[in-house]
Amino acid sequence: MSLKLIISDLDGTILETEDYHRRAYNELFKEIGLAVTWNPQDYMDRMKIMGGGKLKEIFSLLERSEKEYGSFKQEMYQRKTRLYIDLITADLSLGNLTLRPGVERLFNEIQEEKFPLAIGTACEKKAAFEVLESALGSKFLTSLKTLCGGDDTLHKKPDPAIYLLVAEQCGVEPKDCVVFEDTDHGLKAALNAGMKCVVAPSEYALEHDFTGASLCLKDFETPDFLTLKKVSALFD
Ligand SMILES: [Mg+2]
Repeated sequence: MSLKLIISDLDGTILETEDYHRRAYNELFKEIGLAVTWNPQDYMDRMKIMGGGKLKEIFSLLERSEKEYGSFKQEMYQRKTRLYIDLITADLSLGNLTLRPGVERLFNEIQEEKFPLAIGTACEKKAAFEVLESALGSKFLTSLKTLCGGDDTLHKKPDPAIYLLVAEQCGVEPKDCVVFEDTDHGLKAALNAGMKCVVAPSEYALEHDFTGASLCLKDFETPDFLTLKKVSALFD
């Protein structure tokens, strides 16, 4: 068993973007004329339900016929994703949002060493590409072994599907992969896939239980700089 592939989550791990999902929902409420605003606690409560729970709840507030739900869900998901991308890319260009500490240094090191790096995210693939291009540049994107998004699998984290798909596309066995994550359901997805996991909790996940993580850090700089050598040593 040796490290052959590093897989990183996106939301919360590379950028503190979880709150942009909440803000995008609030923008969406304005657009569809719903007098609803989710504060951080409201959103945190809803994050416990992965998948379509949030759009189902919004739909129930509109008192529409049940047969409209399919098209509503599709349309709202697309619109909310667009709002999410636009809010993030605007804040990145204004400098109001930056990469989490150590991400750029560590990813640069991994890529300079030509070590395989991939992304596995619940974020829609198109959105993940746009956000990563804006945050890390197009050269970073082209150097990735693969990027799998939420629309590539049926089941969401903590189901291991996304990480197993990444490993399969890269031709690497799960036991030779390490995942960078920020939440308990992300950690569980990695462990359920039979992979090691390094956790750096995001602001929404500070209280999560990270039992089973190979390393739990404040971020990739703290308490010590995380390096490719230290990640590889997890397999010694
Ligand atoms: Mg995350």
